[in-house]
Amino acid sequence: MTDATVLPDHDVIIVGAGFAGIYAIHKLRDQLGLDVQGFEAASGVGGTWYWNRYPGARVDIESVHYSYSFSEELQQEWHWTERFAAQPEILRYLNHVADRFDVRRSFAFDTRVTSVVWDDGNQLWVVTTDDGTVHRSRYFISAAGTLSVPKQLDFPGLENFEGQVLLTGNWQDDVDLSGRRVGVIGTGSSGIQVVSEVSKVAGELVVLQRTPNYATPVGNAPTDRAEEAADKARYRELREASRNHFVGVPYHEAEPSAMAVSAEERRSVFDDRWHRGGFRLVFDSFQDLLFNQESNDAAAEYIRERIRERVTDPATAELLCPKNYPYGSKRPPLETNYYEAFNRDNVHLVDVSGNPIAEITATGVRLADGTEHELDTLILATGFDAFTGPLMAMNITGRAGRPLSDAWAEGPQTFLGIAVSGFPNLFLITGPQSPSVLYNMPLAIEDHVDFTANAIQHMRAHGHTVMEATPAAQDDWVAQTDQAAEYTVVPKSGSSWYMGANVPGKPRKVLVYLGGAPAYRAICAQVENSGYAGFTFTSGRVLATA
Ligand code: NAP
Repeated sequence: MTDATVLPDHDVIIVGAGFAGIYAIHKLRDQLGLDVQGFEAASGVGGTWYWNRYPGARVDIESVHYSYSFSEELQQEWHWTERFAAQPEILRYLNHVADRFDVRRSFAFDTRVTSVVWDDGNQLWVVTTDDGTVHRSRYFISAAGTLSVPKQLDFPGLENFEGQVLLTGNWQDDVDLSGRRVGVIGTGSSGIQVVSEVSKVAGELVVLQRTPNYATPVGNAPTDRAEEAADKARYRELREASRNHFVGVPYHEAEPSAMAVSAEERRSVFDDRWHRGGFRLVFDSFQDLLFNQESNDAAAEYIRERIRERVTDPATAELLCPKNYPYGSKRPPLETNYYEAFNRDNVHLVDVSGNPIAEITATGVRLADGTEHELDTLILATGFDAFTGPLMAMNITGRAGRPLSDAWAEGPQTFLGIAVSGFPNLFLITGPQSPSVLYNMPLAIEDHVDFTANAIQHMRAHGHTVMEATPAAQDDWVAQTDQAAEYTVVPKSGSSWYMGANVPGKPRKVLVYLGGAPAYRAICAQVENSGYAGFTFTSGRVLATA
């Protein structure tokens, strides 16, 4: 029992105004009646969909599923113009949601959180923003995203480049690339989308590829109004089916094993999923692609065959075929005419795997063997410091002055990807070791915000001021996360951001819970129903905000 003397300014501080922050404000302010303050570094709402304005940016889960489910009115009234909405439409949607639920008034925009320190004596978080202002809150929620801090750039000479440098993860509106000599570094989901679009307008496009990817067609099309009406008529059922699927999309056609059927049957299933698009090939063809190397090899070979069919020049096709890591061990990108871009005369594929980029010069890129590519514009699609980057950027310090960077020196340690031992009343929305990026994000976010809201409500109902994960529960969760990954092909990838392996020096540790959304949701429900087993609570004087 402690007696706090300093009052918090707010019940809750939330960082981030993307899908997570918008819903968290609505839930905690409007449904729980808490005093909530949000901070957002950008000038508006949108999160990922605010910053990633590069040409070709598009969602790769059907928009009817990649959207909020918390409001029946919202999901009925919103109309998506395309099956897989492009970035501007998703940003419009998030602005609509922000207006509809009046969340903007609870955010300070253009405001970056620079430090977050636990004050044990007063049992509150002390949050400092980049204008030097100090704010205190009982609870702190990170809705700062998983892929929001671009990977630090390590190209020597980048500062010497006299042309234009563009980052896919922090793109400006209205960049005109027509007729320009453009170079793209990176062939992950962002690079693949940007190449497909920029190839149509650039005078010359040089794609500097280190690792080819298993990209499959997204299958975008204008929304079919009859299909939309049918989906809306059974939205509740669809959302339930999503939440009961491994990756949070209402797929239901996966057969048990690619090895249990004949080569012809396998081929016909792969063909069907390839043509229908989305993540059907990887997550709705055979259930064992991520778990059985032989099945994975069959899918990988199928994709290589499709790539060879689409790319005219055999040498270029071969360079575009991934061979050294399993399908799905890196996050599979979806594409629209990506491979066809390499049939254009203005597009050149350059392999930088054995001949790396040595230097960015004043006029372009120089490779280790001395080859130079002259460029007007350099696009960096080089990825993110996933999961931990956004948390480290806030400089979070827990009990006894222990920084999160120290607690996580060997990689993240969480309970359920939501809580961290030694960091009381801290809630991570889609944090490391939760299914997050492998669970349809808006739904994963809603589940975590709801878990957090329930936990806060539980504390208030029982007169608790502090809630904290126990070291034992956390150790057990980390072990479960590591073990779940071991059953899959994911640890076999050399440079996957799922493993933190894309950032030099970052501890190699699985960052995603790979047991699937349904198993994860059942575990979270068990924790809630048990009165929060795995957490300790401290009671104190329950104080109103100042
Ligand atoms: P990414 O998947 O990490 O890809 C980064 C690319 O940059 C890789 O091809 C990487 O090559 C290359 N690279 C990095 N450093 C390099 C260097 N020094 N020299 C040469 N190449 C280098 O990043 P991303 O494409 O931004 O995608 C990240 C995630 O964001 C995706 O996996 C996805 O979850 C999400 N996203 C989603 C969508 C969507 O459609 N919804 C679109 C974009 C992004 P290596 O592979 O060799 O390291």
